[in-house]
Amino acid sequence: MHSHSSGSHPERRQPGRPQNGDIRACPNCGAASEFSERYRFAGEVVPAWVCDSPACREHDIVRRPGTSISNASRKLIRASKKLRADVSRTMMRARARVERTGVAVERTDSKLQRKPGK
Ligand SMILES: [Zn+2]
Repeated sequence: MHSHSSGSHPERRQPGRPQNGDIRACPNCGAASEFSERYRFAGEVVPAWVCDSPACREHDIVRRPGTSISNASRKLIRASKKLRADVSRTMMRARARVERTGVAVERTDSKLQRKPGK
C-alpha cells in the first residue's frame, strides 16, 4: 500500500511548538527557563519549561494537544456542550422577542419619516 502523499513526509511537528533548548522568560521569576522535551516529573517524562534559577525551579508542564483526554475533561466537554445547547435555545427565544420589538420600532420609524407636510 502506498501512502497518499508522494515525496513529502507527513508532518508530525506542529508549528509554534517549543523545541528542546528553547529559552523563554520564567513566568514566576523572570529568569531564563529552558524547554526540555524529557523533563522527569512525578515518575513521568513530560515536555516542560524548567526555570534555570536555583531559587525558583518553576516547571511548567506542556500538555500536548491530542494526547489522552482524561475522563474528567471529557465529562466537562459534554457538560459544556449541553450548556451551549441550553444557551442557544434561550438565545433563539430572546431573538424572536427582539425581532418582534424590531418590527415595532421600524413601524414607528416609518411613521416618523412619513410626516405629512414637506
Ligand atoms: Zn523562575
